[in-house]
Amino acid sequence: MPPTTAFSSSSNADLQQRSRRHVWHPCTQSIRLEAVPPLPIARGEGVWLIDQEGRRYMDATSSWWVNLFGHAHPAINAALKDQLDSLSHVMLAGCTHAPAVELAQRLSALTGGTLGHCFYASDGASAVEIALKMSFHFWRNAGRGDKRCFVALKHGYHGETLGALHVTDVPVFRDAYAPLLANAHLVASPDARNAAAGESAADVASRAAAELEALLAEQHDTIAAVIVEPLVQCATGMAMHDPEYLRRVRALCDRHGVHLIADEIAVGCGRTGSFFACEQAGIWPDFLCLSKGISGGYLPLALVMARDAIHDAFIDDDAARSFLHSHSYTGNALACRAALATLDLFEAEDALRRNRGRAQRLLQRLSGGLEGRAVDHLRQRGMITAFDVREPGARFAERFHLAARAQGLLMRPIGNTVYLMPPYAIGDGEIDLLVDGTLATLDAVLATNPKKEGARDVALA
Ligand SMILES: *Cc1c(COP(=O)(O)O)cnc(C)c1O
Repeated sequence: MPPTTAFSSSSNADLQQRSRRHVWHPCTQSIRLEAVPPLPIARGEGVWLIDQEGRRYMDATSSWWVNLFGHAHPAINAALKDQLDSLSHVMLAGCTHAPAVELAQRLSALTGGTLGHCFYASDGASAVEIALKMSFHFWRNAGRGDKRCFVALKHGYHGETLGALHVTDVPVFRDAYAPLLANAHLVASPDARNAAAGESAADVASRAAAELEALLAEQHDTIAAVIVEPLVQCATGMAMHDPEYLRRVRALCDRHGVHLIADEIAVGCGRTGSFFACEQAGIWPDFLCLSKGISGGYLPLALVMARDAIHDAFIDDDAARSFLHSHSYTGNALACRAALATLDLFEAEDALRRNRGRAQRLLQRLSGGLEGRAVDHLRQRGMITAFDVREPGARFAERFHLAARAQGLLMRPIGNTVYLMPPYAIGDGEIDLLVDGTLATLDAVLATNPKKEGARDVALA
């Protein structure tokens, strides 16, 4: 047991009330805080989150997809305590440190050296901003300053700062700010759920790639890069596609002289079954963004990996031809150390192999349990499993979230999509609890389904 904190004496209700008074919660409609008070979490332990009064909730969303090996993992905790006693942070301009160097080196090795350089930032959205800027700037340095447009996929999500939002196509995050945003080209999503009768997922991928092909053929002179979420478009509701799409996009980008940016912020770090999602298509992008899981879900850390040839195009006496972007906490030593400890765990816990067994058990139990229930498109890619509820009714995500709490689960459906993305620390018994709790929640929610589609659905990503 970790030592109790100085805060643990306050009750759930007290903390909830003070939170409502002073904390502006992310991705939350404040008006719903009364009906859906935030869970006051005091501790984490493996896949469990424990509230101020000792109630336990399984973290079935890995805390917004960041946690990999469970909360309070002894190995990551020990690495951080050790790092804390030597160096927490130093600026990465004019200085360097072992955790930042070693992490860049190890990640590069995981790409077989293809992506040789690593640029650090703090949040996922900042990594996307960096990749967009680097791509444009590369072409500018090459005398191709007209290449300043980006291509993104319909229903894609790349973060919510203005640059990242301009390549994001999720209305609830984007619409209010549309007047502030540059226009990106949007092309068809290869979402396998779009398959017509008799069409395979690979057919859908080819169809979507043909649309991109037409755009690039016509406008490649003004296009810097295509940005994709490889294999799973998570934020739109776990839309999955065939790896064939990535092979097509890679070939099209090569043919037309356009960069490929792989946003692996959610799908990287083993979530889809391989360490990088791109590996399943046998391709490498020109830029690869990581964040979320890379620090094990402990600390904000993001990074952009780039090919050496791209890095080298910025080596110049002229400051305007150099990449002078920076964030204050770039390459934070504690965060990099947490990431190194996380990489160690992939080996020590044989995570990718053992996750195959976990995913299989989860899917088997869930598909059996869902038989006869009104759901569609049960799908899985690695440790991401999802299904769509046929008649969700009003405020489905919110009602499901609340009903799941009563089952001891922390879950947040996206629209009518229920997804399970637990930390890799999940054991067999816990998988069964998760599946049983999900089914019980679904039944409870559908039994009280308000038939009238009155209130607009609340955004619960
Ligand atoms: C979460 C996410 C981001 C943004 O990361 P933040 O750390 O929330 O800024 C970008 N792209 C994808 C695919 C994501 O899932």
